[in-house]
Amino acid sequence: MADGSGPYDIVVLGGGSGGYACALRAAELGKSVALIEKDKIGGTCLHRGCIPTKTLLHSAEVADETRESAAFGVRARFEGIDMNGVHAFKDKIVNRAWKGVQGLLKSKGITIIEGEGRLVGPNRVAVGSEVYEGRNIVLATGSAPRTLPGLEIDGERVITSEHALKLDRVPSSVVVLGGGVIGVEFASVWRSFGAEVTIVEALPHLLPLEEESSSKLLERAFRRRGIKQELGVFFESVKTTDTGVVVTLAGGKTLDAELLLVAVGRGAVSSGMGFEEAGIAIERGTVVVNEYCQTSVPGVYAVGDLIPTLQLAHAGFAEGILVAEHIAGLNPVPIDYDGVPRITYSDPEVASVGITSAQARERGHEIVEFTYDLAGNPKSQILQTQGAVKVISEKDGPVLGVHMVGRRVGELVTEGQLIYNWEALPSEVAQLIHAHPTQSEAVGEAMLALAGKPLHVHN
Ligand SMILES: Cc1cc2nc3c(=O)[nH]c(=O)nc-3n(C[C@H](O)[C@H](O)[C@H](O)COP(=O)(O)OP(=O)(O)OC[C@H]3O[C@@H](n4cnc5c(N)ncnc54)[C@H](O)[C@@H]3O)c2cc1C
Repeated sequence: MADGSGPYDIVVLGGGSGGYACALRAAELGKSVALIEKDKIGGTCLHRGCIPTKTLLHSAEVADETRESAAFGVRARFEGIDMNGVHAFKDKIVNRAWKGVQGLLKSKGITIIEGEGRLVGPNRVAVGSEVYEGRNIVLATGSAPRTLPGLEIDGERVITSEHALKLDRVPSSVVVLGGGVIGVEFASVWRSFGAEVTIVEALPHLLPLEEESSSKLLERAFRRRGIKQELGVFFESVKTTDTGVVVTLAGGKTLDAELLLVAVGRGAVSSGMGFEEAGIAIERGTVVVNEYCQTSVPGVYAVGDLIPTLQLAHAGFAEGILVAEHIAGLNPVPIDYDGVPRITYSDPEVASVGITSAQARERGHEIVEFTYDLAGNPKSQILQTQGAVKVISEKDGPVLGVHMVGRRVGELVTEGQLIYNWEALPSEVAQLIHAHPTQSEAVGEAMLALAGKPLHVHN
């Protein structure tokens, strides 16, 4: 028997994107739900991830536009970055959304329990001396920044994204260790704020999971912006000094900077909470699940960054919804992770959905592809952005992948997502008229070309 309130239909452990989305959908389906959170509802995405980084990136965009205003015939003078103002803007957006999500959960009758939960049986979670019983348990404890063996984070000179979001100054120089999404986004922000930035990435390209041509376009754009890159080089060590850090790379090259940002990925938060003791299978730190996010223990599900799927807030939302619907017996369709859009919100942005050409070949597809250069897209020229839309399609078949680089292309990925997930043929999309002048015309132009009737294309 539970000593705390309950039993509930569902007890959710962790109130981030995955956990709270599950709670909301379950409540909508008439289930009684308790949501346990030890810190702040909204989790990493709202407080330490998606939202605060995007406010910084927007401040960065405003800084660049102010610097470049003369090119548009506007007189303005860039006088510098006021970090207090940058944080005030960030905190205003975060707090508003935080208030909103808490109100939403309460309005749906979800019981929010503040405290650190621990699984004490397949259907029981303890918070302090209280035990909450659930007919189903959903684990949604998320992830935390990782580091490399021997690389110590001191929070002063050697920092993670969590420290970077609270930094009270613009550093004069930064080495960013890791050319994945988080590293690239911070590199972009700091460069716009005026810092000297060098990215160190062990693999040969930035954003190694993206289509190689997208990575190369980003690297070129970053070089033009003065963001230095050490690609295909391993980090060896870092020494902190009174004024900063000295980073040594394999081969002996050294880089001096005020800060080292360690952005080498995030590890699932899966230990010390009774998961293994309850018999939950864990592999390389992440909880093992099937296509319905069921763990190895009946009645216990896991979602979000805790499981080895895409570490994205919207993937977590989708998993939370899937689990609520599965528990409610709605027979939901498992998630096609290739169909989940991915965006890096740097300048320029990189966005994609579907698979890369390398993956398509590995999977035995015979493919055709077309790249539309944004140089031919007037709206992109107005925005003064360079980049491209690349579409990969099965020969005489549906679109398999859409890969884009350029300012604001993140907003275009939604069309790519519909095209990919509806298995549309290029010729079907080519029938649809794109508004002029928009950046979305670049998607239309690529489809027209693949359908054999290119419009604004030089041969
Ligand atoms: C810098 C950065 C930028 C990002 N940008 C984006 C982006 O632009 N778009 C995007 O889609 N994704 C982005 N992400 C990823 C996104 O934030 C995560 O994928 C998402 O937050 C995962 O949600 P989650 O619910 O699995 O975990 P989390 O959001 O980490 O939530 C887990 C929650 O569980 C709580 N918790 C943990 N253990 C316990 C316990 N024992 N008891 C009670 N509560 C507990 C934690 O306090 C936390 O609130 C970014 C991440 C970072 C770090």
